[in-house]
Amino acid sequence: MFILNLPPSGLSLTPGKVLCIGRNYAEHVREMGDVTGLPTEPVVFLKPSTALVASEGEVVIPPQSEDVHHEVEIVAVIGRGGKNIPEEQALDHVGAYALGLDMTARDVQRRAKDAGKPWAVAKGFDTFAPLGPLTPAAEITDPQALDLRLTVNGEMRQDGRTADMIFPVAWLVSYLSRIFTLEPGDLIYTGTPEGVGPVTPGDVLEATSGGGLAPLCVTVRG
Ligand code: MG
Repeated sequence: MFILNLPPSGLSLTPGKVLCIGRNYAEHVREMGDVTGLPTEPVVFLKPSTALVASEGEVVIPPQSEDVHHEVEIVAVIGRGGKNIPEEQALDHVGAYALGLDMTARDVQRRAKDAGKPWAVAKGFDTFAPLGPLTPAAEITDPQALDLRLTVNGEMRQDGRTADMIFPVAWLVSYLSRIFTLEPGDLIYTGTPEGVGPVTPGDVLEATSGGGLAPLCVTVRG
């Protein structure tokens, strides 16, 4: 089972809900050809915890897809639970941050979108939620001042800044807590900047951040 280890406390958490935010960076909304304009409310979807895979692990392309995309994201790990959390107190409920990948079967997602169906299948395959080592929230003075980059085989594909989020982390924690009771170990994948694209077997995906988050590296398997 996947365990969240929170240094330096040694605290271990079992991952809970994997909450994900879609369309949280304007340039990514545009690259996806979204004609409805920028969202006034975030898109929320969930992945099963069986999608989690640790750094140095493998992303497996499922037989149901021929177009799996990378989406590098900042992940907020809930350390203290709550319901109806005010935005001003929201960051106190984040115990750690990490780099993550919201792997997406784009062809499956496109068919679901066209049919008005949910994204659970496109987003929820095993290994579709790589998660890097956790960095204690106390070491991150401002989650809106982080960089997030992704290279594929050493080539830069995504290079974003959390300052460009449409809905910032504190706002998201507060918003989500009004829908779902948040519990320790819940994860929030906060959306991807522009530059998403397909992966193929053998690719090495490396996510890094200039803001002090530990790197995440996974290999793609067919
Ligand atoms: Mg995403």
